[in-house]
Amino acid sequence: MRLLKKPDCDTKKFFSTCVSGIGAAELQKKFTIFSEKVVTASLDYDSKSSRHELYMIIDQGIKDKDLCSPPFITKDEFKKLYENQVAKEGRPGRSIYNNLLITKNKRCPFCSVGKVKNLDHFLPKAHFPIFSVTPINLVPSCRDCNQDKNDDFSVDIRKQSLHPYFDDVSKVKWLFAKVAEESNPPVISYYTDSTLVEPEKLALKVDAHFISYKLNDTFSDLAGEMLSDIYNYCMNQFNREGKESLKLYLLEQKESHENAHLNSWQGAMYNALANSEWYCSGKFIDPQQQITYPKIIEQNENTGSECMGK
Ligand SMILES: [Zn+2]
Repeated sequence: MRLLKKPDCDTKKFFSTCVSGIGAAELQKKFTIFSEKVVTASLDYDSKSSRHELYMIIDQGIKDKDLCSPPFITKDEFKKLYENQVAKEGRPGRSIYNNLLITKNKRCPFCSVGKVKNLDHFLPKAHFPIFSVTPINLVPSCRDCNQDKNDDFSVDIRKQSLHPYFDDVSKVKWLFAKVAEESNPPVISYYTDSTLVEPEKLALKVDAHFISYKLNDTFSDLAGEMLSDIYNYCMNQFNREGKESLKLYLLEQKESHENAHLNSWQGAMYNALANSEWYCSGKFIDPQQQITYPKIIEQNENTGSECMGK
C-alpha cells in the first residue's frame, strides 16, 4: 500500500463547483442548502480517518437512510452529481477528478502494482451518497482493486482497509514472503506480520487490507514471473560462484528493493529466497543444468597444480 498526499482541495468549494453544473434550478438550490451538511460530514470523515475510526461513521447517522432521502437529497441525485459533474469530460468537477488521478508512476495505492484507471469511492457512494463528491473519499485505483472492493465497507474495526490518504505504513516492515513450494519453478507466498505497526488499530488495517485486496494472489503471481526472469542469472551465479555468492546476490537485491519501498513484494521475495537453504543450494536448478560447487573447486585446484608443475 502506498501513502498518497491528502488532496488539498476544499470540500465546500469543490461541492459548489460540482453543483454549479446542474441545469435544473430547483435541484441546484436543494444541493446548495445541503452543502453545509456535506462539509460537516467531510470534517467528521477527516477526523475519524485520522484516528483510524472511519468504521464508526456509520454509527453517527450519516447513512443514506438518515440524510439521503426526501426531503433531503436522494442517493440517485448524489450519484448523478458525481457522474455528470465530476466523472464526465468537460464538466466543472472534471479537472479536480484528473488531479486526483495523479500518482507516482501511475501506480495504484491500494495494491502498489496496478495502473491507476479511475477514482474509487473509499466509502461507496451506494451506501454513503453524502461522500459522493468529497475529495478525501475519492482515491485513485486500478481496475482490479476497484472491482475487488466493489461496494464493500466495514463496520468492524478488524476489517477496515488502509486508507491511502491517511494511513502511513511505510516505516516498519510488515510484508513477508516464504518459499511455499520447493519445486521447479518454486512458488512464493506472502503474509503479513504487523507486530511492529502502531497503533494497534493501524496494524489491524494492514492485515485486513492484505486479505481484502487479495494481495497474496497478486504478489505471488508477480513473483512467479520474476523467478522465471532471474532463473538463468541465479543458476549461473550458483554454478560459477556457489551458494554463498548466490545468497549475497539475493540479499543485495532485497536491500535495493527495500530501500525503494520497505514493503515491496520484490524485497519480500528476495528475502525469502536468500533465507531458503533449498534455493541457495541450487535445488531450483534443472538437474541437467546443475554443476555443483565442489566440482568447480576441484577443477580449479587441478588447473592450479598443473600450472605449478610447469
Ligand atoms: Zn490496485
